[in-house]
Amino acid sequence: MQAWHSTKSKISRWLYDKSSFQRDTLSIEHVRGIGGWLRFLFCVLLPTLRIAFLPMKNLLLFLLLWGATTASEAQTTAPDPNRMTLVIHGGAGTITRANMSPEKEQAYRTVLNQALQTGYAVLKKGGTSLDAVQATIQVMEDSPLFNAGKGAVFTHEGRNEMDAAMMDGRTLKAGAVAGITVVRNPITAARAVMDQSEHVMLAGVGAEQFAREKGLTIVEPSYFYTEARHQQLEKALAAEKSAGTPDQLNAPTKAEVSPVKKAKTKLKPGKAQGAVPYEDQIFTEGRKYGTVGAVAVDQYGNLAAATSTGGMTNKRYGRIGDAPIIGAGTYADNTTCAVSCTGWGEFFIRATVARDVAARMEYQQIPLSQAAQATIDKVGKMGGDGGLIAVDRQGNITMPFNSEGMYRGYIKADGNSQILIYKD
Ligand code: ASP
Repeated sequence: MQAWHSTKSKISRWLYDKSSFQRDTLSIEHVRGIGGWLRFLFCVLLPTLRIAFLPMKNLLLFLLLWGATTASEAQTTAPDPNRMTLVIHGGAGTITRANMSPEKEQAYRTVLNQALQTGYAVLKKGGTSLDAVQATIQVMEDSPLFNAGKGAVFTHEGRNEMDAAMMDGRTLKAGAVAGITVVRNPITAARAVMDQSEHVMLAGVGAEQFAREKGLTIVEPSYFYTEARHQQLEKALAAEKSAGTPDQLNAPTKAEVSPVKKAKTKLKPGKAQGAVPYEDQIFTEGRKYGTVGAVAVDQYGNLAAATSTGGMTNKRYGRIGDAPIIGAGTYADNTTCAVSCTGWGEFFIRATVARDVAARMEYQQIPLSQAAQATIDKVGKMGGDGGLIAVDRQGNITMPFNSEGMYRGYIKADGNSQILIYKD
């Protein structure tokens, strides 16, 4: 068996060098079943060996075979445990060594590690990337440390309104919920929308009714109360009051005024004083985000992305961020990558960040890390801050950000994992 696999790999490499076919589009290693072999013969072997030039009759036959055999096998490859990879984030922002105690750092590391191990266990036993990212996110949603599920930030009115999304890179199916207040694990609602509805995004009471009907765990809104988040709201409200400019969402954005650094000194409307810029005080609570995200590739080469958040402290008017918007905060496509974002949502929506990374890979044919960095640079130029995590089908990962820090980590097929927090 081992010898056959190694022969297959050698033939595959030779064919890849010789033919114009992308290895990931179709290679001998991906061939399964009689249909797969016929497809392989007509599409790769014969053209490569220049034995057949596909006259009209053969072309028709080829198209028929392709159609009949592709549907069930689309984007699924032979299991390869070596590519299993899981990447997570727990939010970006002003996260520096100076404002972190050893105890706090340890607490974050513990939950991040628990999240990684939970998702890894799913992948290891042959589970799908979708199940892995969901299980991973649930661990972080259940922790009060992160701005998702228990620990979600408060709105202006003192509620916890949560958003979540999930996307399947194999089928391009996606599910999202926005502004929900009673579903214990918002990511389970996003999953249910994807799997059990004909829609992509449900919001507010409708989404909650849907979650109830699907039997998801429902809690009292008070379940989401945490003292620390409530204090953040109170600080934000006090800052807003002293600044005297209530409608932050309609105020000019940093991008409309100047890039990030300039904005820090220029944007102080009303009576706002002090070192922290006005909009950071009232809206981004000192620019610590805290959304959670996970992306993974499983043994079958299928990608998945998931993101869950409470949004931003002191948000109002039913504000929705990038996290639940497919293509902005969350995206997955087997042909390119899976992406989950964290940061100032308005910028991430306008830059369609998650899809932008995939599009750069697709159209420019550039590697994942280059595409992701270019997108984050673009967000920075617009005046936004934050970061993203991404993985491709080969298990390559990247975790760029332009903020001071980002809670992040990954685990590879061999079980080796790493958790990082700061920029340096
Ligand atoms: N991106 C999220 C939002 O704008 C916030 C975060 O990353 O924590 O809702």
